[in-house]
Amino acid sequence: MTDNFTTTDGGAPAPSSERSLTLGPNGPILLQDTYLIEQLAAFNRERVPERQPHAKGASAFGRFEVTGDVSAYTKAAVFQPGAVTDVFARFSSGNNGERGVSDTLRDTRGFSVKFYTSEGNYDIVGNNVPIFFIRDPLKFPNLIRANKRRADNDCHDHNMVWDFFTRSPESSHLVTVVMGDRGIPRTHRHMNGYGLHAFSWINVGGEICWVKYHWKTDQGVECLTQQEADRLAGTDPNCSMLDLHRAIARGEFPSWTLGVQIMPYEDAKSYRFNPFDVTKVWPHADYPLIEVGRMTLDRNVTDHHTEVEQAAFGPHNIVPGTGLSPDRLLLGRSFAYADAHRARIGVNHHQIPVNAPKVPVRSYSKDGRMRVQNVSDPVYTPNTVGGPAPDPARAAEVHWAADGEMVREGYTLHPDDDDVGQARTLLRAVMDEAQRDRLVHNVIGHVRAGVREPVLSRVFDYWCAIDREVGQRIEHGVRATSNQ
Ligand code: NDP
Repeated sequence: MTDNFTTTDGGAPAPSSERSLTLGPNGPILLQDTYLIEQLAAFNRERVPERQPHAKGASAFGRFEVTGDVSAYTKAAVFQPGAVTDVFARFSSGNNGERGVSDTLRDTRGFSVKFYTSEGNYDIVGNNVPIFFIRDPLKFPNLIRANKRRADNDCHDHNMVWDFFTRSPESSHLVTVVMGDRGIPRTHRHMNGYGLHAFSWINVGGEICWVKYHWKTDQGVECLTQQEADRLAGTDPNCSMLDLHRAIARGEFPSWTLGVQIMPYEDAKSYRFNPFDVTKVWPHADYPLIEVGRMTLDRNVTDHHTEVEQAAFGPHNIVPGTGLSPDRLLLGRSFAYADAHRARIGVNHHQIPVNAPKVPVRSYSKDGRMRVQNVSDPVYTPNTVGGPAPDPARAAEVHWAADGEMVREGYTLHPDDDDVGQARTLLRAVMDEAQRDRLVHNVIGHVRAGVREPVLSRVFDYWCAIDREVGQRIEHGVRATSNQ
């Protein structure tokens, strides 16, 4: 057999790529054409269910090099001075992002990084904006439903988007970012990434602190205007995916500098707002960025399905020296992401090469669909035959304190736990007049595309609650153009 025969999926030489087996030249196709059957059956099974949000993604491999010294805060090997770790990054469309959408939609973008560390996989699964729409994971399915398709005509509908937003005033900070210039990144290379949540870090002495991750693009933040985005949606809808692939192919490797904000453990109790509220940033003046290292992406994927479609990121992938926090959206995600992968690509998704840790796996999980790595005895624990045992040091890392009655309530511990304060700061202290003008223009355009009463009046109230002048300009603009 030469090296270049097409084969069946079983590895035997294939009979033909063009002619089915028939009874005579004009007769029926025969059931014993098992190659034809294999080809049709494989084609019918090519798709796995796409991700609910963030379905369209572009990825690359690379490395993360530690350039700073944060060893006082975390013992994680991946963040120790001089460490170099292989990474895999995925950038994706946001809430209503199905696999076929344009890369230039006004929406958040996913920004996920998997570190193949010497202590197991560590994932930072974030976005290109530092905050999220909602605080409570119970609202997450409805956030996504409102941004996706109606039941009756299966189309997107800005009326339901704004209906949900205006009934969720905690969304105002993120909506302000997305309606501003940063709502449409020029490419995946030209956007920052943020870990969104407060996470915990634990140092060698067992001390815990809270941490927020910031990936600053070394290419510079660049965004598209609404007009540019609308044009590209028609002429070059995969522009960001192609841009990443082409840049790496020509040796222009994109990089991001990772910085962290560190909050001492005790600060969280008395800070002016709840630092675990994912709709808020920690002001830089209070918690300045500390440089950790740089991620450089230098290798393109070669098979989008096996490496990107089957990639499974999740905030539950934590390593020694890192941990979760009381952020309730983070806790919801730490269940939901792993569960989404189990539902989408199977319970053994960690064995797919792109997800597989580069350290030995000695778990007692066994069997299940598509398991490809052998398990060995003993298959249970505790045991007396020398099977792996847990690391007591790991158990000692989980130690933030919580108590109280069981309730269904929002965060109420801190004096500045509001919905709109940081959105107002963004509008008034960060954006200049020209940026505010563009935001007003963008909101008017978005709202005019299908928002009806009574949601419409609530949209004006929503923006007036953030900033009266901006709200009035939006109302004036929408009413004036709808009366024409
Ligand atoms: P700073 O002045 O220190 O930070 C303002 C930050 O705003 C900048 O560092 C930049 O983030 C970001 N920014 C600039 N232009 C825009 C824009 N058009 N849309 C969204 N973000 C933009 O002040 P504070 O730290 O006190 O934050 C003030 C406000 O800035 C916050 O309410 C929040 O809306 C926004 N912001 C704050 C961040 C933080 O972590 N503190 C991060 C991002 C935004 P970057 O440097 O990451 O590019």
